[in-house]
Amino acid sequence: MYKIAVLPGDGIGAEITPEAVKTLKAIEKRFGNSFEFTEALVGGTAYDAVGHPLPDETLELCKKSDAILLGAIGGPKWDDLPVELRPEVGALLPLRKELDLFANLRPCVLFPGLIGASTLKEEVIEGVDILVVRELTGGLYFGEKSREKTADGGQKATDILSYSTYEIERIVRFAFNAARKRNKKLCSVDKANVIETSRLWRETVTDLAKEYPDVELTHMYVDNCAMQLIRNPKQFDVIVTENMFGDILTDEASMLTGSIGMLPSASIGGEVGLYEPSHGSAPDIAGQSKANPLATILSAAMMLRFSFDLEEEAKLIEDVVRNIMKEGYRTPDLMEKGKTLVNTVQMGDLIAERILKS
Ligand code: NAD
Repeated sequence: MYKIAVLPGDGIGAEITPEAVKTLKAIEKRFGNSFEFTEALVGGTAYDAVGHPLPDETLELCKKSDAILLGAIGGPKWDDLPVELRPEVGALLPLRKELDLFANLRPCVLFPGLIGASTLKEEVIEGVDILVVRELTGGLYFGEKSREKTADGGQKATDILSYSTYEIERIVRFAFNAARKRNKKLCSVDKANVIETSRLWRETVTDLAKEYPDVELTHMYVDNCAMQLIRNPKQFDVIVTENMFGDILTDEASMLTGSIGMLPSASIGGEVGLYEPSHGSAPDIAGQSKANPLATILSAAMMLRFSFDLEEEAKLIEDVVRNIMKEGYRTPDLMEKGKTLVNTVQMGDLIAERILKS
């Protein structure tokens, strides 16, 4: 029996999470596994209900679960709350920190049926398969923040960016090991020409590389990487980078897959893994059944693989998604001429149905 905490959150989170649960229930039936789902409040929805975006009960539930499935949090309704009560700062960051989820894995894979859905040329993206390993519990997002008034009547805002050797080493080791299981190429992304934390990052990576002579290591500045991802994404196998660079580069990389609605993620490192799509709560399409649930469904597949070691089950979900894309079913974000438009629930139904029939 695997205990799964389900935190739908805000906006489209409430629409996509049930489709991932539906998928896991189909897996349960098909393979005879046993999952216990317990839902809890998080984000703006939790703030509205109990006055805090990460209620104690939610954190407790997460700590005693085997894995967490999260939808997305945040939205304009909660943007003007004091910083510590804003969903992202008050819930997502502490959840990552409390559970020591320092490694965020974002596989960026183009499913063959989706070549036409991307805005990029076929020859550039065909065969793209990149794993981005993003540091998730350090850097600018977790640094001290402050504001002060200035003599000219304006304000000065400060965010502190810091990384220790220990923090860099543990994520980079993770990335080297991941590269070993793939094509043995690791690109470390930093801004070592300007930023001191990046200089320490590069020195640490270079030192560690001596332990991994079988992995080909390159270093790249983040601005160049942003350009190279669009120019020639197939040069990358595994990318490792710090928190904010990883956040930005993976949104960019999502377009190599056709839509940000296709990019899953796994946040691991501590005892409990957290699985969530790479996108946010998409307030612009929330409540309209237009959201693509596949990033969340593929995150559930990562949960089966990384938290429960259920490789066959994980692979079946990925194969079913691949086949459904080939057959031409599309949520609006991926829609092209000649394809079949489906809504969020219909996409989830198709996945569950195919799992049961497989
Ligand atoms: P977003 O990722 O929510 O949306 C960006 C664009 O992508 C929007 O046009 C949206 O409609 C589209 N999109 C996103 N997911 C989609 C899906 N599954 N299917 C189809 N289209 C999809 O980013 P944003 O608009 O910058 O942020 C909205 C809110 O989400 C903000 O409050 C932000 O802080 C929050 N956010 C939360 C997380 C998280 O929960 N991990 C991550 C990023 C942003």
